[in-house]
Amino acid sequence: MAVIEGLGVPATTIFERMSRAAAETGAINLGQGFPDLADPPELIAAAQRALTGKSNQYPPMRGLRELRQSVAGFYAREQGLALDESQVLVTSGATEALAASILALVRPGDEVVLVQPLYDAYLPLVERAGGIARFVDLTPPAWTLPLDALEAAMSERTRLLVLNTPNNPTGSLIDRATWEAIGVLAERHDCLVLCDEVWEAMLTEGAAHVSPLAVPGLRDRAIKIGSAGKIFSLTGWKVGWACARPELIAAIGASHQFLTFTTPPALQWAVAEGLDLSAAWHAGHRARYHAGRARLVAGLEQAGYVVLPNAATWFVTIDLAASGIALDDVTFCERSIPEAGVAAIPISSFYARGPLTGYVRLCFAKGDDTLDAAVSRLARFRKSLI
Ligand code: PMP
Ligand code: GLN
Repeated sequence: MAVIEGLGVPATTIFERMSRAAAETGAINLGQGFPDLADPPELIAAAQRALTGKSNQYPPMRGLRELRQSVAGFYAREQGLALDESQVLVTSGATEALAASILALVRPGDEVVLVQPLYDAYLPLVERAGGIARFVDLTPPAWTLPLDALEAAMSERTRLLVLNTPNNPTGSLIDRATWEAIGVLAERHDCLVLCDEVWEAMLTEGAAHVSPLAVPGLRDRAIKIGSAGKIFSLTGWKVGWACARPELIAAIGASHQFLTFTTPPALQWAVAEGLDLSAAWHAGHRARYHAGRARLVAGLEQAGYVVLPNAATWFVTIDLAASGIALDDVTFCERSIPEAGVAAIPISSFYARGPLTGYVRLCFAKGDDTLDAAVSRLARFRKSLI
């Protein structure tokens, strides 16, 4: 991981750097994951009403009771989970929920298993807590989790497994059978499972999300992390949560109280209203992304790119070698901004160790014109490379 010279702390994230480069050059930004579709009006109206009609002073440290109840209700309807408000802690985005969980649960010298490709926040947080990372790599092109490698990475010092389903950047899922096998390993090593599920609502047609909280062998060991930013496509709102058994929530809450303490109440009220919207509303919101995904995939394939299957998220991955392009992903992304006018994310930036990859992530949560323009630029770029 790149560090700031002289300080040895992690450098600015790849998402921020790519967005900045796209803004400076006028490139189409298919890098950082954020949609450019209209905000859901129900949520904006709810936040406006809450700002003028509700208190703007500190809400309770664990989050508004109404929001914690709405999170539990949403997961009961969508995923069949049996949670109550004592099992939900509201945080300032999933990032803070991850930080509070890792800082609360990892003690200096504990081993933490991380799965590559990994979301950028995990490793710096584990290291800041004094944990020792052990890595397991997903296997492309389906990006499956090799259970034998997971087992080999675990020891009596393993405190925590950090898993991410649906996975960013690959869009792959952990299925129930895999969760059950992970449950056996977690019990054998008496460790906890931190599961980042922020992409749980952004599924393609027919795909099903399974939380470890839905698996009996993991219910008491798992911490589920969610994000309203992803469920409602309002990435700047930074309202997230952790769900787990009450003792774990108490420990994570004790850590959260010294990170941000609380999250703006108007946004909490709005998210509670949003979660309570009908299942049909949520299905419709999710479906807004299906067309963009199909459009980008079809356009890229017509231009000669090989696109890997994805079951979730706002991202698809292209396989450079299979697309006839003899570049590594970092070089491709560095050149695609000035030469194609399109910003993308190299999958290598999700690896803390290992060689550069041949995979590039593109965000499809954009309007038709943006996607069409990006495809024609990437088509010309590919022709210039082969
Ligand atoms: N985890 C993953 C896998 C993500 O992709 C993201 C953001 N894209 C986050 C966590 C952070 O979510 P939030 O913005 O709610 O902090
Ligand atoms: N999670 C977003 C992505 O994968 C980026 C979030 C961020 O910029 N920190 O693109």
